[in-house]
This record gives sequence, C-alpha cells and structure tokens, in this order.
Amino acid sequence: MTTHADVLIVGAGHGGAQAAIGLRQRKFTGSIAIVGEEPEIPYERPPLSKDYLAGDKPFERILIRPPGFWDEREVAMLTGRRVVSVDPSAHVVTTEDGGTIGYGKLIWATGGHARRLSCAGHDLAGVHSVRSRADVDRMMGELATTTHVCVIGGGYIGLEAAAVLTKLGKHVTVLEALDRVLARVAGKPLSRFYEAEHRAHGVDLRLNTVVECIEEQDGRASGVRLAGGEIVPCQMVIVGIGIIPAIAPLDAAGARGGNGVAIDEHGRTSLPDIFAIGDCALHANPYADGMPIRLESVQNANDLATAVARQIVGDPEPYHSVPWFWSNQYDLRLQTVGLSTGHDQAIVRGDIASRSFSIVYLKAGVVVALDCVNAVKDYVQGRALVVGRVAADPARLADASVPLKSLPETAISPA
Ligand code: FAD
Repeated sequence: MTTHADVLIVGAGHGGAQAAIGLRQRKFTGSIAIVGEEPEIPYERPPLSKDYLAGDKPFERILIRPPGFWDEREVAMLTGRRVVSVDPSAHVVTTEDGGTIGYGKLIWATGGHARRLSCAGHDLAGVHSVRSRADVDRMMGELATTTHVCVIGGGYIGLEAAAVLTKLGKHVTVLEALDRVLARVAGKPLSRFYEAEHRAHGVDLRLNTVVECIEEQDGRASGVRLAGGEIVPCQMVIVGIGIIPAIAPLDAAGARGGNGVAIDEHGRTSLPDIFAIGDCALHANPYADGMPIRLESVQNANDLATAVARQIVGDPEPYHSVPWFWSNQYDLRLQTVGLSTGHDQAIVRGDIASRSFSIVYLKAGVVVALDCVNAVKDYVQGRALVVGRVAADPARLADASVPLKSLPETAISPA
C-alpha cells in the first residue's frame, strides 16, 4: 500500500499520465504514484465523443499506455480513489476513504467535471454528460432504446456526439443558446459551415434557444422544454456545456487562482512543491497576449506535463507551446493552431463549398490562428505563421494557390 511518493500525481488522465512518462523518460528514479478517481488506468478522452461512442474503437485501443507499462516503469497506479484534501505544510493528501498519502512533490492533474444543467430534470435518467468512459458507456447502453436525442450545447463535444449519433441513425436535435455554434472557440465562417453541415446530415439545429427544463415520464427524461413552451421529445439528453475545473481541494488549501489553479510557466502553483497541469491550470499564455487562460486540449495537458517533469528533474524549460486542437465530425477533420480569441479579421482561404478550406485569423494584421478543415497542408504550413506572429498580406492569405510556407516571415515580435 502506497503511503508516500516522491512525486504524487492526482488525476489519472492525459496530463497525469504524461507527467509520469516524462519523469521516467528523464531518468527520474524516485517513487511515482498516480491517484485517480476513475476505476480505469489512463485512457484517451477525445475518442469518447468520436470513435469510441461510434463503437469503432474498443476501450483497450484508447488506453494511453498498455496496462503492463505502468508496472514496468514502477509507477504505482492508485485508481478508484479521489483526493478530497491537501495539506501543503505536512505534504500529505487525504483520499475519500480516509487514507493519507505523503508526497515530496505534488502534481495536480484533475481536469474538470462536466458542467451540469441547473434546471428541473437535470438529474433524470437519460440525461448524460460526455466526460468519462463511464458516462459514454451509460449512454451507449441506452442507444438500443433511443430514437430521438437532444444535445444541449453546440460546442465541439456536443457537435461531435451529434455527428456520431446521426450516423447511427438517431434523430438528433442540437439546442444552442447563442446565435451560432462554436461561438467560444471559432470565427463566424466556421460556425456557419458546421451549422450547414449538421443540417445537411439531418440534424435539427436550433440557435438562440433557451432550455427551460427536462421533461419526465416514468422517472426518465422524455423531452426538453424550451423557453416559450415547446417540448422537443427525446429519450436521451446529452449535455455539453463545458467543464468546471476540479480544484476544490487545492482551493481550500489556499492555492491562488479562480477559474482554475494559477501556475507559472513551469507549472508551479502558489503552494510549495505543488504543480498543476492540464484543463485545471490557469496560466499566462503567450498566444493569448499573456492573459491567464485555461486550455482544454490534449496538447496543453501533455506539454504542461512535460514542462513540470523537466522542472522536477532540474532541466527546466518554460511552457510556451503553440496551442493546437482537432475535431472530427462526419468526414470533416478540423485542425486548429493558435488562439483566435480577439481576432479582428477572419480570412477564408479556399472554397468553403469544397469542404476543404482554412480560416486564417488576424489581429492587428498579424496571423494569430488557423482553423483548417480537411486542409492538412495549410495546418502544417500555417503553424509557422502563428508561431512567428507573421504579418501577411490578406489577399495572398486568401489565395489558396499561394502556399502558406511561401509567405514572407515578417515577424512582428517573438511569441
Ligand atoms: P483529464 O484527462 O480529464 O484527467 C483528469 C483526471 O483526474 C480524471 O480521470 C478525473 O476523474 C480525475 N480527478 C478529478 N478530480 C480528482 C480527485 N480529486 N482525485 C483523484 N482524481 C481526480 N482535446 C483535444 O485536444 N482534441 C479533441 O478532439 C478532444 N476531444 C475531447 C472529447 C471529449 C468527449 C472530452 C471529454 C474531451 C476532449 N478533449 C479534446 C479535451 C481533452 O481530453 C482534455 O483537454 C484532456 O483530457 C485534459 O487532460 P487533463 O489531464 O487535464 O484532464
């Protein structure tokens, strides 16, 4: 039974797994333990709304590493245990079952919990989040008796689930409160493109739509009542309205932060010997003009984990990676690089109707991000424009016959 670890990692997800891998790759010889509240060893979360939900990939194929890997690397995997408090001065965490584990360094890698609806019926059977394997297994277990699904929230996860369920022959309604899907993460042309795609695939996509409550029949969700009184009948409701960072124990221990645990460029929190990484970490990102943000992506979790591993082994390198992300919907592969938040110009490159195009985002004349739909070349070549903060001619950016790599690298300032 593990009672102490030189490095204790809380959270057996993407960041937690990568932190342990990164430490061993850098020849860290001390003891490492990972405590995770889920029963599974670390697995990839992105397939949960894609191939796993579609039934195209079994669970074994979405494990981050095969089961034997952790034993071979002497990483103690303490699954099914939730950390409920942290004592920074004693260097001890307490788990829900009352057990305690001491640590030399603590890496907080807990991600977030799915935000739930607050209206009546939010906790009925048939209402689902898409955050964990258990969530998706529950959902899949109900698919045989489901013909109609309501997805609440037009973000990436909701739209990916809508695409998979449509392909599985379900009647899907997407309810979005704002005037476009993906409003938080993408520019208008991309939102309009995805709205049209979903509608073309038969999704009943409704914008500016406010949910009032979930209707019940025989103890189960039977529909979604909208403001105005209309009821959209369904047997399954999927709620994709974001996450709440899982930071309560660190918060209670006095860590600085707000919408996440505040960290510096080496992943250090304001508490001694405690680091935070991944979805729960609030960091000043150079691609957001140094503003404190939380990123919810595999790239961010992995790269921050590596930065912390390096810091712990005494080979520090600050976390300045360019953010990137992907989303699969139908036969569309979206790849994004950079952060488009705050852009003042969105240039469409190529023909949207061809379903292979990119959107280049500029801020004060400088390329800050790209969204590439079925356009791998643009994604690969456009990365340098974002990293180099290149000021490129909008007319040439819009011309898909001009390769992005040929654009002059007139860097405005280093990122
Ligand atoms: P997680 O991977 O969420 O791991 C955190 C772990 O900590 C969880 O297992 C959690 O149960 C556990 N935990 C929480 N609190 C405690 C506690 N107190 N004690 C013990 N354990 C605890 N990103 C992309 O880049 N591309 C995609 O296409 C993409 N698709 C996604 C699709 C879905 C359905 C989801 C849910 C996410 C997707 N993401 C995608 C986001 C990506 O998965 C996350 O950004 C990434 O998992 C973050 O890693 P993390 O280590 O911070 O948190």
